[in-house]
Amino acid sequence: MMKKRRGLRFYIFGETIYMKLTHLPRLTIVVPCNNEEPVLPTSAPILENILTDLIQKKAVAADSKILFVDDGSKDRTWLIIDQLTQQNPLFTGLKFSRNYGQEAALMGGMQTAGAHSDFVITIDADLQDDPTLIPGMVEQANAGYDVVYGVRNDRSTDSWFKRTTAEGFYWFMGKLGVDLVPNHSDFRLLTKPVVDALMTCKESNPFIRGIIPQLGFPSTKLYYKRQPRQAGVSKYPLRKMLRFALNGVLSFSVAPIRAVLYAGLVICTGAFAMLLWILVQHLRGTVVTGWSSIMASLWFLGGFQLVAISIIGEYVGRTFTEVKHRPRFIIQTDTYSPSFAIGKTVNRQPVSVTLHLNHQSVHSGGRS
Ligand code: UDP
Ligand code: MG
Repeated sequence: MMKKRRGLRFYIFGETIYMKLTHLPRLTIVVPCNNEEPVLPTSAPILENILTDLIQKKAVAADSKILFVDDGSKDRTWLIIDQLTQQNPLFTGLKFSRNYGQEAALMGGMQTAGAHSDFVITIDADLQDDPTLIPGMVEQANAGYDVVYGVRNDRSTDSWFKRTTAEGFYWFMGKLGVDLVPNHSDFRLLTKPVVDALMTCKESNPFIRGIIPQLGFPSTKLYYKRQPRQAGVSKYPLRKMLRFALNGVLSFSVAPIRAVLYAGLVICTGAFAMLLWILVQHLRGTVVTGWSSIMASLWFLGGFQLVAISIIGEYVGRTFTEVKHRPRFIIQTDTYSPSFAIGKTVNRQPVSVTLHLNHQSVHSGGRS
């Protein structure tokens, strides 16, 4: 079991030394936005109220922020974000030069926020994930958990298709040995060490949901009921959902290529048996022309080879994109970082400085 203690951890000669945070934790709520003009005017005040409440209760630092990441929106999303930043210094924004996809928006937001924050929470702009869970997440982080997963225990508001395909995806990934938290999307709290660790994963198509459990920090789950979208439309049509699922499978598992290998072996064994049978028929002198069977196997093998080549091609393609080391995103405007310029930040409330010697190792990396 982990120790419920928030602070910096040092390891000296096998001893664990704790240094308590000398300030209230600074929280940044990262919100990826792609064409979210219809929903932002509703979501922004809700998040603002939650964060203001946390600041007033001294659960988080007074200079905690909400960071909207505009992922190449074609509507008035950035204009709304810009207006919000002028209304309240709580709001900040990051504008990508074009649409890079939700994962890139999350990585960009977390990287920027992680440089200045103790805790980072990511939540979708449509607030389908229950934002009232945020205070509970902060509480869990203050208790010592480095990862707090928001998990949906009721998806009845999602369409039957979305629910079934999602369940199928978690089941399939589980079978492939990929450690995913079922019914958890991208609503989670990460502490700074986890964000830093996540940023060391340099792949250009990061499957964040798969990477975070692999990082191995102490984690816990909080449950909520998934809500319908407040306004606007889903940015995940079937095409994008399939691409997302394929990315998850291909970036974490070589099982498909192994499956092809096994299938190939089975077919080769079958073909060998067939050869023996043909030989026996030949020796018995009952050879038939066998045009149909030859054609059938020709087509079957041709098709199978195409499938095999396409799967190998997927991996070659991924190697190709990875070796290019292209940037995951390019930030066009950043109103977040300058808000921390000297003289602009609110003084952080000192609490206490305690050095604590702990003789047990708590580096368990436990996962709930
Ligand atoms: N999103 C994004 N870039 C994209 C697609 C989506 O930043 O290319 C954001 C979107 O604005 C939202 C979140 O990702 O905040 C989840 O998208 P959505 O709600 O449309 O997905 P769904 O809930 O339908 O799966
Ligand atoms: Mg949504």
